[in-house]
Amino acid sequence: MTGVIESRTVAGTAGLAALVADPAGALVTLDYDGTLAPIVERPEDAAPAPGALAALTACARTFGTVAIVTGRPAAVVVSLAGATDVDHLVVLGHYGEERWTRASGLAAPPEHPGLPAARRLLAERLPEGARIEEKGLSVAVHTRAAPDPDATLAAATALVEEVASATGLAVNHGRYVVELRAPGARDKGDAIRALVAERRPATLLFAGDDLVDLPAYEAVLAFRGDGGDAVGVFVDNPEAATVRALADVVVPDTEACVAFLHALAHAAAR
Ligand SMILES: [Mg+2]
Repeated sequence: MTGVIESRTVAGTAGLAALVADPAGALVTLDYDGTLAPIVERPEDAAPAPGALAALTACARTFGTVAIVTGRPAAVVVSLAGATDVDHLVVLGHYGEERWTRASGLAAPPEHPGLPAARRLLAERLPEGARIEEKGLSVAVHTRAAPDPDATLAAATALVEEVASATGLAVNHGRYVVELRAPGARDKGDAIRALVAERRPATLLFAGDDLVDLPAYEAVLAFRGDGGDAVGVFVDNPEAATVRALADVVVPDTEACVAFLHALAHAAAR
């Protein structure tokens, strides 16, 4: 394997070889925002990178299980990715609380009783320049588009933490975003471990770009520690250097990630 399929670690090289040699035994897990779709100021505008849908379709046809794992609602990501007609694709929304497949549709739990009050409190006291994203099972405050994103994030974080203690919700921190959701809620590592337990893959791949993906990379390392082959792919992001250090494959941007997935599916299908 040469060209776009290259790992900077020995373990990652072994993992890529295992994926290609036994695609049916592979679990391929992918973040959406920043990984398959470039980061944009308004999350509702997060269109997939060119070729992303074709790469997803090829991967879903080739590998045992392909799953998008996101903190967003599953239905939103299915729609943004244009994936409504992709067979054998699993979309785990809200870190695995929701599951979508073309065959079964969407499965989701009821919302936390503190969410209506949280929505009202956030709307009343939202820092200037911040935006609310309604996510169904959670509500997020974004500050990337504010004139001073860092100062606005600090103010939004203080507000969100106060609302969390008033409503019994939990706080989740991301890239210029802070989110309220049900406590005991999962992270991407939990979602991936649950899929591993369900599908029993021989090889695990995760591709992400952000600090919230850290538990997913830890799940990759744990899978490897248990004797499996595993690959962590990172779409380069200077805001998440600690996550970058854990990755086997680093690609410069979402287009390169799409090219990597295309090449991997092509190599495995041969
Ligand atoms: Mg991301």
